[in-house]
Amino acid sequence: MCLATFAERGGIALPSSPESSSGACAIEDPVTFSSVAMPDGSKVEFDSAITVRCAFALEVLGWVRDDLPGIMTSANGKLTKLVGVGGHACRPRNGVAGAPISEHASGNALDLGGLRLQDGRTIGLTDRDGTTHTLREALQKSACARFTTVLGPGSDSSHKDHLHLDMRKRPRDFKLCQWAVE
Ligand SMILES: [Zn+2]
Repeated sequence: MCLATFAERGGIALPSSPESSSGACAIEDPVTFSSVAMPDGSKVEFDSAITVRCAFALEVLGWVRDDLPGIMTSANGKLTKLVGVGGHACRPRNGVAGAPISEHASGNALDLGGLRLQDGRTIGLTDRDGTTHTLREALQKSACARFTTVLGPGSDSSHKDHLHLDMRKRPRDFKLCQWAVE
């Protein structure tokens, strides 16, 4: 079911590795992809393929296809690539042994470093760059509206140079939006 929706919404599935669906860090309904077909016929590529649970992949597709193009247009840009991309990883939170298992382990999270535009610009999401400040504020707003966890600069030392987005469920649908745009 979910995989059909994934394809309808522009997801381009690649074969998933068998490890992602078994063992301690198994993903429910895993899907592997490294590009998104956009409504205008173009493609947005990822600099590396991610494997995530299908339900989470739908949120990533929604963000890339529905939310990002308008924000990029307002900056006179067209999105072509997501860079510094990370998905499934069987590890404790922040790679610290003994810490609670990360949302990455269940395929419910995405790490992201920057966005590349057609004109060659790369928006480093965690850069301190006055020329992209307004754009990054708009990106922060859209990320925090869509995902239940957004961690970047201002959260903890392991998110200084990239963003972490996930769909962790919390009591009373509490959302964590910790990305200080500088
Ligand atoms: Zn992460």
